[in-house]
Amino acid sequence: MKKINSDVIVIGSGAAGLLTSIYLAKRGKKVIILTKGYGATAMSSGCFDILGFVKNKVLESFRDGFNELPDSHPYLIVSNGDISKLSNLMNQAINKIDDISSFLIGNIETNRNVITFTGTVKTTALIQKCMEGAIIEHGKQYLLLGFKGIYDYNPRLQARLLKTSAKIFGYNDIRIDAIRINLEITIPSIHYLNSILKQEKYKRLLIMKLEKIVNDYSPDAILIPAIFDDISRIKSLQEHAPIYETPSPPPYRAGIRLVNFLWRLARKHNVSVMHIDDLKGDIKGKEVIKLVAIKNDKEIEISSQKYILATGDLIGGGLKIVLNRDLLKKELVDTVFNLRVAKLDKNIFNSDLFGQHELNKIGFKINELMQPINERGAPILSNLHVVGSVIGGYDYNSEKSGLGVTLATSYKLHEELAKVI
Ligand SMILES: Cc1cc2nc3c(=O)[nH]c(=O)nc-3n(C[C@H](O)[C@H](O)[C@H](O)COP(=O)(O)OP(=O)(O)OC[C@H]3O[C@@H](n4cnc5c(N)ncnc54)[C@H](O)[C@@H]3O)c2cc1C
Repeated sequence: MKKINSDVIVIGSGAAGLLTSIYLAKRGKKVIILTKGYGATAMSSGCFDILGFVKNKVLESFRDGFNELPDSHPYLIVSNGDISKLSNLMNQAINKIDDISSFLIGNIETNRNVITFTGTVKTTALIQKCMEGAIIEHGKQYLLLGFKGIYDYNPRLQARLLKTSAKIFGYNDIRIDAIRINLEITIPSIHYLNSILKQEKYKRLLIMKLEKIVNDYSPDAILIPAIFDDISRIKSLQEHAPIYETPSPPPYRAGIRLVNFLWRLARKHNVSVMHIDDLKGDIKGKEVIKLVAIKNDKEIEISSQKYILATGDLIGGGLKIVLNRDLLKKELVDTVFNLRVAKLDKNIFNSDLFGQHELNKIGFKINELMQPINERGAPILSNLHVVGSVIGGYDYNSEKSGLGVTLATSYKLHEELAKVI
């Protein structure tokens, strides 16, 4: 059996696993990522929410909601309840990401309201550069652009929704237009525009139509969903018109672009990555002694001083619900070590999945060293740490704090580990 050894093993390659690996590798540590599947980062809008809402109040900055967070919140744990510590931590976490200013605009302190692909308004902090024009500003004129023949993106409907959502956020003085243009080709879904516009003929036709729109409407921003796999493609259109993308989930590209951006950085800093088919943790007493990965039907043993679980929540694939046959109760366990995270209340599925939902809050309880802890507050395993959405105690969905928590926990953990390895 093949055996591999490393300073640190990170399990999972969403934002949490990649960021922690990059930070550690930049400090000279030998890091291996073991990963399978894709995770929630790829499904996100690729914009970093830090803290947009607390108790349904829209926040202008995470600072306005910090004191109202529950004690279990990872922001309170990583900062020991000190707001300036959290601010320093997150600013450093952002500054240590190379070339970040080529990809994201904004800062962790200030929330901005951004028009989304569905016509809602999203409160977020760090925005992909190609979405800059989707930030709502008073007095501005936005034009939502659609394409004839596409059934899955309707800018007129989006504009109607946007008029209502913008008012809720206090933007009564913006103008919203919507039009559809004809690219003289049957486009089955807006997703396909990415490949169609790689052909020079259609790109030229789009540019011609964009120039006419600018003449007819003089919009401050022409908005389309995040369809491009590479942001240089939207930059080349911006030479002709103020065209920007809106934050959008799959099948659009924004979250995947964030993952790819972090992958490139991880490779640049010599992080090794192993795509595996399956993985099981081997525990003895209070310690992880090794991992056994399956790849192409072969077993590989991997061991290190420290193990980092960055496998995400139920959506990411890091947690699963199982039936404990002895107790006849459902439990939440992680998918690598099978550690019990929580006993599940049978009513957990009753609330609104798109609002404040208990499922969004579940995950490991942690201490200040990012170790998963048991009900008595003791570390479950001495050499296992957790980062990102596998941690519980906060509701990324209703708070809008997902990638912010990922950023803060990844940076904090790398600081702690750098002291001991
Ligand atoms: C639809 C959606 C939209 C969102 N939009 C936003 C947004 O716009 N802004 C924002 O800030 N937050 C958003 N969030 C929240 C945010 O995406 C997550 O909080 C964040 O991406 C979590 O990152 P992570 O690395 O912890 O987990 P993930 O990104 O889920 O990564 C987990 C990784 O572990 C791997 N993995 C899982 N199980 C195993 C296993 N057993 N063995 C090996 N590897 C494994 C997965 O394949 C993946 O690579 C959104 C979430 C969802 C679901």
